[in-house]
Amino acid sequence: MVRYDAAVIGAGADGLAAAALLARAGLKAILLERNERVGGILATTEFCPGFWAPPFADHVAAIPQELFWELDLGRRGALTMVAGGGAEALLANDLAVRRLELLKFASEVRAPFARRGLFAKAPTRPVWPSEDWCIRSLAEIAGSSTETSPAQLAASLLDGRSCDPFAAGSAVQALVGISRYEEPVGGLGVLATALESATRAAGAEVKLGLEVTDIKRSRGRVSGICLADGGEIEARAVVSTLDLKRTFLTLFPWNELPPEVVSRTSQFRMGASRARVLFALDAPLKGVRPTTHIVSSLQSIAEAHANFRDGLLSGNAPVTLRIHRDPRMAPKGKTVATATLSAIPFRLFDGPWSHEKRERLCEIALSAADTVIPGFREHLVGVRVIAPPDIEEELGATEGDIFGGEIAGDQVFGYRPWLDGSCPRTPFAGLYLAGPSAAAAPYGTCVAGVVAARALLADGKAGYLK
Ligand SMILES: Cc1cc2nc3c(=O)[nH]c(=O)nc-3n(C[C@H](O)[C@H](O)[C@H](O)COP(=O)(O)OP(=O)(O)OC[C@H]3O[C@@H](n4cnc5c(N)ncnc54)[C@H](O)[C@@H]3O)c2cc1C
Repeated sequence: MVRYDAAVIGAGADGLAAAALLARAGLKAILLERNERVGGILATTEFCPGFWAPPFADHVAAIPQELFWELDLGRRGALTMVAGGGAEALLANDLAVRRLELLKFASEVRAPFARRGLFAKAPTRPVWPSEDWCIRSLAEIAGSSTETSPAQLAASLLDGRSCDPFAAGSAVQALVGISRYEEPVGGLGVLATALESATRAAGAEVKLGLEVTDIKRSRGRVSGICLADGGEIEARAVVSTLDLKRTFLTLFPWNELPPEVVSRTSQFRMGASRARVLFALDAPLKGVRPTTHIVSSLQSIAEAHANFRDGLLSGNAPVTLRIHRDPRMAPKGKTVATATLSAIPFRLFDGPWSHEKRERLCEIALSAADTVIPGFREHLVGVRVIAPPDIEEELGATEGDIFGGEIAGDQVFGYRPWLDGSCPRTPFAGLYLAGPSAAAAPYGTCVAGVVAARALLADGKAGYLK
């Protein structure tokens, strides 16, 4: 049996980046993906003949400059995906540096909104920290210097997450998306293709259609993985890009987990609250804004969050409507639009997601679109509704949470996912966590993968992986 230096689970952005860096460092690396395509969240699919759209998210946080150049992603077709600033410093993989960065961002009072270009001019009084650290204070002060309402600013911040904007501490949501967000030319799938090409060129083996079912352990450390087809792969180290719950609750026998892993993993809260509706339209929809946050007030966001907590489908769910102008997404004279709905529960109190409930979801999105583009629904020629369970099914993300866990004070930065700041290392020697639950995930696309690969390489050099 071939023995690998490292096996990477999941070929999303993090897995591709980790496998590429490990192979470039001379390790024998294998990347395993259960789907027949790479990319994970980075996907652009044909949801209606001739109409293409990203099913899970419209944009991703930019890729750190250093990685972009190292993997030559520009010449592999990924355009406008470079980030500077915070993500760079984070690649130092040093918790102290991360905390310093956080403090820098926190003291840079207008950072969360300035980065999204929402400030017309600098605010006249400090935005951050507000007395109660809630989104309302942040949004109201920021909103006073723009034409955008505080509710729209809050919705732009949440973008598919659910939160009470009046709750103390909720402003932590503003600090997690610290790098720029980008929609690469040609769609997110183009970025996945560029990353795959870089990973293969680096010498990593990329295996599609192979689901990992178990992580093997021997003498207190990981020793390889088991596959759904019955196959096994020996590896000195394993990088998991699955979220915390998926990694520990599905890839290990529950009764073999150390008690501290059991308690943290069970207590870790997922924050799934995103649904998507993809629209194919038979008109060019000229003169409309590319992105509109459709929400009536901060109070309505709070009500939608209360409904979300109760497992109800809320008529107040904030909707972000995006009109995609990339000519490769739709036939000539036609348009693709996507709606991202926030505060949509994974579990509904009155039973499973039925056809009727999906239709209601579609109707919430359509009614919102009609308010900003009168007659929107008359142009509809195709639609795809993606509810939270669909995201779980297609991506393997627990409860359909693409953020890998609720963004809350006890689950971000140095506390994500382990309270001692040891991520990407885990309580199992030789196992590294690189997916959306990892501490580094909020800092940019691929960052969690890079941080995990660097930790693995450092441990290898120090002789820990023999
Ligand atoms: C604060 C925050 C903000 C974020 N903002 C955004 C955003 O705006 N846009 C966005 O797109 N993302 C966003 N994310 C998500 C984040 O970017 C993800 O961490 C990252 O993009 C996903 O990459 P990934 O490789 O970790 O996971 P994924 O893209 O989910 O890839 C995981 C892969 O693993 C595969 N897989 C699952 N189970 C198995 C198995 N058993 N065996 C083999 N393969 C398996 C899946 O099929 C999938 O291809 C955000 C995350 C956080 C924490």
